[in-house]
Amino acid sequence: MTTVDNDRSIVIMGGGPAGVFTACGLVDLGYPATIITRPRPFPAWEGISERPRTSLQHFGFRAATASIGPMVTRAAHWNGQSQDQNREYILNRQTFDQALLRDAKNKGVQIIHGRVEKAVRHESGWEISYVTSDAPPHQKVKIKADFLVDARGRESKLAKVGDRDIAEGDSTSGPATSALLKSYEVSLDLDAMTSVASFPKGWAWFLRDGKGTAILQIFISSEKGELPSKAGLDQYFSELTNILPESEAWLRGATGQTSGVSVRTAAPNRAAPAGGDDFLVVGDGMLALDPLSGNGIFYAIGSGLSAVPVINSLLKKPEDKDLALQFYQERLDNAFKAGCLMGREFYAAEERWPEEAFWKARRLWPRGEEVSHPDPHSDILSQPAEICKKPVVKDGFVALEDVIVTADHPRGVWKIDGIPLVKLMTFLVAEKTDSETAATFGAEAAQVTAARNWLLSRNILPETHRKHNRKT
Ligand SMILES: Cc1cc2nc3c(=O)[nH]c(=O)nc-3n(C[C@H](O)[C@H](O)[C@H](O)COP(=O)(O)OP(=O)(O)OC[C@H]3O[C@@H](n4cnc5c(N)ncnc54)[C@H](O)[C@@H]3O)c2cc1C
Repeated sequence: MTTVDNDRSIVIMGGGPAGVFTACGLVDLGYPATIITRPRPFPAWEGISERPRTSLQHFGFRAATASIGPMVTRAAHWNGQSQDQNREYILNRQTFDQALLRDAKNKGVQIIHGRVEKAVRHESGWEISYVTSDAPPHQKVKIKADFLVDARGRESKLAKVGDRDIAEGDSTSGPATSALLKSYEVSLDLDAMTSVASFPKGWAWFLRDGKGTAILQIFISSEKGELPSKAGLDQYFSELTNILPESEAWLRGATGQTSGVSVRTAAPNRAAPAGGDDFLVVGDGMLALDPLSGNGIFYAIGSGLSAVPVINSLLKKPEDKDLALQFYQERLDNAFKAGCLMGREFYAAEERWPEEAFWKARRLWPRGEEVSHPDPHSDILSQPAEICKKPVVKDGFVALEDVIVTADHPRGVWKIDGIPLVKLMTFLVAEKTDSETAATFGAEAAQVTAARNWLLSRNILPETHRKHNRKT
């Protein structure tokens, strides 16, 4: 049996960080937004840096911020060397995701707890079918939407090539990788910590939460036929721990929980196309980074934030559709490229097993000579800065503006500290002081100085403009 729910204009399928940030941003713009999501069906623990935590705090996600675990030192054992320079916050993803949804509800997003089964496009809009425990068992509920956001993480389907009736495009994947996760009980006396280690078959991340739980997550190659069947996973996991030297110390006195080994796909992946007139794919569904980067949540938040002006443009300024999608796609392509190049550099830094399949495939992917962080100074001569028009976010929409493209900013920089750079250059040519220029922009002199210094640091302004500043 099927019941039809009342119409809502924007439906977001999936309530992880990307879906929640998209929904909350749309509500801020006055759109009614509904998230349909089901809880993560497996235990997941992750680590995040200060940046995503700051974003959560900045945008008022109080419950999500409060759900973040302690900051710990991460010990790294890579290429035969041990270091403990990095720190990360530990995150129980099930607790964190529930907290995100509480924040979204408080911000005015309607939350439906259900599993999306299908989204079909009709002439009158989208029809999404889902099952929910709020309805009698096996009863499907349908909901309509003018605009659909796919935020189901790696389970997103709208951008996948298989759904040819919805969208066609290219998808790019890195070497097939799976994460095998097992939970343990450990003594309550043991402090919270994380540690990462490489070994011939891949790499591993160990976490202790300081409250009696430990997690060992092992990342291995999972090309066709490499993983055993579900029944053989426990045995396979034990064999891997036997050849992972660090696991001896990590698991001393630990008791494996009965829940067994769970598997998550973990290869870097970029789907296409990102969207169309009436849909957009956000978060991991569009761009999934290698978990080695530890940046997935940060990018998912960024993807949700950038999706909002894109959707606003698609809905209210359909004539700017191509521009809006160009902005979104370029942002994704750039993040994917940088993330993959960084991944290759990390893998190449482990030099002990160049012939092992796991390492061989990853130190060569993606192919090419580019580096993740081009040096803006050494690249000035080979790729001088260029002024051109590119899509930027302006007043809640995507708009075309003059930007400066440099080797380290291929998408172009429009403003620094709120000051539009290309306009600023015309004022500097007219020999105005920073204070005079600031008054024209309705800004502080310090903002103009920061923008001018950025131009100077990229050799876009002649040195004379450094002296000129002393007049202020
Ligand atoms: C093994 C592994 C380890 C990782 N470790 C880290 C790390 O340490 N640090 C880090 O920053 N990132 C890490 N990541 C990446 C991080 O998990 C993702 O980048 C991030 O969660 C993406 O957010 P999202 O909102 O796009 O998707 P998700 O967080 O995956 O959210 C998608 C949501 O949609 C729901 N959903 C899925 N299908 C349906 C459906 N049919 N109906 C309704 N709801 C549905 C899911 O239950 C989920 O709640 C890791 C990823 C993997 C695979």
